[in-house]
This record gives sequence, structure tokens and C-alpha cells, in this order.
Amino acid sequence: MNDLDGMRMRIGGEWVASDESRIREVHDPATGEVVGSYHLGNRDTTRRAIEAAEDAFEEWAGRTARERAGYLVRIASILEEHRSEFAEIITRENGKPLSEADGEVGGAIAHFQWYAEEASRVYGRTIPPTDPGKRHIVIRQPVGVVACIVPWNFPIVLWARKVAPALAAGCTVVARSASQTALSVLRLLEHIEEAELPSGVLNQVTGPAEESSDEFFANPSCRKVTFTGSTEVGRKLLAKSAWTVTNLSLELGGQAPAIVFDDADLDVAVEKVFGAKFRNGGRSCIAVNRIYVHDTIGDEFIARFTDRVESTVVGNGLNAGVELGPLIDSESVDKYLAHVLDIVDRGGKILYGGARLTDGDYSRGYFVEPCVAVDVDEAMYCMCDETFGPLAPIARFTDTDDVIRRANQTIYGLSAYLYTRSLERAFSVGERLQAGTVAVNDDVPSTTIAPFGGFKQSGLGRECGAEGIEAFLETKHISIRI
Ligand code: NAP
Repeated sequence: MNDLDGMRMRIGGEWVASDESRIREVHDPATGEVVGSYHLGNRDTTRRAIEAAEDAFEEWAGRTARERAGYLVRIASILEEHRSEFAEIITRENGKPLSEADGEVGGAIAHFQWYAEEASRVYGRTIPPTDPGKRHIVIRQPVGVVACIVPWNFPIVLWARKVAPALAAGCTVVARSASQTALSVLRLLEHIEEAELPSGVLNQVTGPAEESSDEFFANPSCRKVTFTGSTEVGRKLLAKSAWTVTNLSLELGGQAPAIVFDDADLDVAVEKVFGAKFRNGGRSCIAVNRIYVHDTIGDEFIARFTDRVESTVVGNGLNAGVELGPLIDSESVDKYLAHVLDIVDRGGKILYGGARLTDGDYSRGYFVEPCVAVDVDEAMYCMCDETFGPLAPIARFTDTDDVIRRANQTIYGLSAYLYTRSLERAFSVGERLQAGTVAVNDDVPSTTIAPFGGFKQSGLGRECGAEGIEAFLETKHISIRI
């Protein structure tokens, strides 16, 4: 028994166990060992959590922004105080290297700090009247109870990206983490007790995804659902939201292109494309999935990039120096292998990697080699579907208009990367790429302080930045006859 065993839901300020004593274990994808376990809820526990959030709403919304901000600052301090503990749990649940898990906790801290500040900047406005006998005032109000659905690839920071602005706006929250990585947030909630949030303001449920989401969309007290996950599930939620016209934000999948122009600084391009591709093992919505390199520098870029990939240290994310941890489960390994096989079947070439690692310690986890492929085209799975793994397909281009067309030829539009020394090209190409975020000579464009979200089937709405709090506000016009 360790302190991550038998973790319970948080509902209305109480720790709640499963009604049917149903428990789910979480396994370390690097070793197969049990990391801990938690009680599974059901539709009824989700309903109870929504009721608790509804009961707490009016009082929380009525607090001043400064008061709410004070709680957010306390949560940021708690995250900082227990930073190494949270990072270790993330690595053990998710497999990412410890340094990346630590960076993730840092990102969560930044969200709570930023939205503590933004809470005071929810401004309304007055509109000059057309009738001198009237005055028009616009105010912004919290939407009400918010349901937050979070994926496994960034368990704490994506939770914080929703919860922090929702609380700042004056909403109360029912959150649900992914089944494979539920422990880090349950542990965080245990520590958050020290912040003494009013009961019912922040609730966390577990259990089958569909049971919770059915309740989120059917229950009239749940006024907003914010979801991060796959486009496939996002479409289902959009359909469900139609029946109750529930306010829905979607942060969905991506298929990011990286374009390396002939005037790029190759040292920068190699290192930054490597980071944007292999961070979190390629399991990021903004991971580079397609690399387009200008033909004149193609040979040199490919040689240097492949050298960098060959030097990647693969192993248990808890070990110092590891750059690439395991994938999360066997389905993820199968998808990676299927994409590699498809490249070979259709005439592409694997320059490095492409296999599952099975020797020694690797045999206990879901490890695969980092992979570089060339001679790829847009018809291949890896070029149109998220691999969500460490596979880097490289294609060549000669014409700028053509590469922009190819980069935009996808149902996704979350992020895009370009590498050039030309400021003119950075703007002219960046403005034509159909993506919510364009990174120039960079590998980590997302930040708390700037809006993040997708064009096309990558999502609806924006998180982060000043826009991030908008998702949790209603706009009200008060018309006064004087
Ligand atoms: P997923 O299968 O869509 O699951 C995401 C979350 O939704 C999990 O908590 C999951 O719970 C839950 N879920 C699954 N089916 C559901 C349903 N029918 N109703 C309600 N909830 C449901 O995605 P994933 O594999 O965890 O995450 C990877 C995907 O997320 C990738 O496509 C990635 O690009 C995307 N992503 C997008 C962003 C962004 O900001 N745009 C950020 C990160 C990831 P269970 O764990 O219990 O299945």
C-alpha cells in the first residue's frame, strides 16, 4: 500500500469512494508496475458533483475577483511546494522524462498565477445610446458550473489550463481526468485542501468517460463543457451538445507541419524541429508530424537531423539523461508500428528506428525507437493522421506556394512551424498557414500568456492568454431607461 492507493473523488468538499467498491489501477508504462489506484465513479457521482458545484456557484461568483485570485495564488504555491512530487507522479503515469514533467508542473503554476491576475481584468463597457433617454451597459458574468475533460498526455497542465481561468471567472468546476493518468490531479487535490477553497467550488470525478459526459450534457445545471482530446471524441461531444445547446469549447488533435527554408540557420532548425517532434515522445497535439525541407539543404538537414535522433537516450523517464520515455499503452505502439509499415509499403524509406524495443528493461514497457523516414508523401498515414509517437517523416519541397498548399492540406489546423532567417518570409508564410499557432524558429510556442487553439477540425474556441477566460464568461446587456 502506498499513498497513491485507493485515491478518492472530491465532491462537495468530501472525499468520495466508489459506490460499488470499483477500483482502477494505474500502471507505469515504463515498467508495467502499479503506480497506484483510485475509486471509480459513475453517472450518479457526476450528478452529485454537478449539484455540489451548483450549490457553491452563487457564493463563489459573488466574491470579488481579488478574493478568487487569492485562492489561485495559493494553489500556485501548493504546486510549487510539491513540484517534485507531482513531476514524479506524472512521469510514472505517463512515461515522459522527469525534466519534462517538471516543466509541465511549471506550466500549471504559470496558469494559476496568470489567471489570478486576469480575474481582475474582466471588464464590461458602456455603449453611447442612440436614444438620449437610455443608457446601455455591458457586463461579463461567469457562465456557471463548468465541466472540464482532460487527456492523458499533459495530465496536470491541461487540467490547470481549464480550471484556473474557470475559477478566476467565478465559475465552479467539475473536472474529469483521463483514466490512465488520474492520480496526479487526485494527489494535487489532496494538497489543495490546504488552500481551503469553499466546498463544492472544485470537484473532481472519475469513472467511465461516457457516463460522466452523458451527465454533463444532460444536466441543466452544467452550463459549459470544455474538452481537450481527440477530434474523434470532440465530434461526438459536439453532437451531444446539440440536444441541450450546451456551451462547448474543444481543443482537439493536430497534424503540424514544420517547413525548413533554404535560408534557415541549420543548427537552430535541427535542434528545434527535434524538440517540437520528440518532446513528450511525440505525444503532443502540437507535435511536428510532417517535416518539409527545401531541396537545396535537404541532404544536409536530413543527415544532421538523423544524427541527432540517433543520439536520443531512450529509457525510463525517471532516469537522469533520458530524452524519450515509453509510449502510454500497446495501442499506441501498434499505431506507431502501423505508420512505419505503411511508409515502407508505399515506397518510403526508414533512415533510422521504426521498431519496438524489447531487450532487457525495455521488455517491461512500451518502448519504441525514435524514427526518421524520408521519401514520404501526403497519402501516407503518418502525413495525414497523428502518429502520437516518435516518428519524423521528412519530405522535400522547392516552391514556397506549393509547400504552403501541402502544409494546409489537412483537416487539422492547430500549429505550424517554420524556420527561416527572413523576417519577410516569417510574416508572409506565417500569415498564410492555417493554424491557431505559428512558431518561427521555435519549438515550444505555447504559453500561458498567449491564445491557443485550433483552426478547422482542431477545435473551437481558445485557451490561455486574455482569450482563455472568455470561454467561461457570458455577456449581458443592461438597458436602462433614465
Ligand atoms: P481522447 O481519447 O479523446 O480522450 C480525451 C479525454 O476524453 C480523456 O479524459 C478520455 O477519458 C475522455 N473521453 C474519451 N471518450 C469520451 C467520450 N465518449 N465522452 C467524453 N469523454 C471521453 O484523447 P486522448 O487519446 O486522451 O488524447 C490525445 C488526443 O488529444 C490527441 O488527438 C491530441 O492531439 C489531443 N490533444 C489536444 C490538445 C489541444 O490543446 N488541442 C492538447 C492535448 C491533446 P478516458 O481516458 O477515460 O478514455
